[in-house]
Amino acid sequence: MDALAKCSVCGRKLRADRIVILDEKERETVLHATCFNCKSASIIFLSSNQAGLVSVGMATDMDASEVKKIFGTSAISADEVIDAHELISHNDILQLVKNSN
Ligand SMILES: [Zn+2]
Repeated sequence: MDALAKCSVCGRKLRADRIVILDEKERETVLHATCFNCKSASIIFLSSNQAGLVSVGMATDMDASEVKKIFGTSAISADEVIDAHELISHNDILQLVKNSN
């Protein structure tokens, strides 16, 4: 699980507090993460299958709010308070990322 959340540019582990959830599906989560080391932003796709959890990182020039627009968080606008479901899922992911360290 060591490769769960790494910077796709410099390969350093990403800190959980710089990770934004962009999209969540049953077996797939998309994150935007900013590297504390090189300040590069990455989009990270997490998916789970029979083999376990797989992560794919992709460098991006966009910040989290720009990427969010593209992913179209349909129910939630930028100014709205996160609802309970989102909060729970968010915490689950943060826990997952922390456990990978
Ligand atoms: Zn980096």
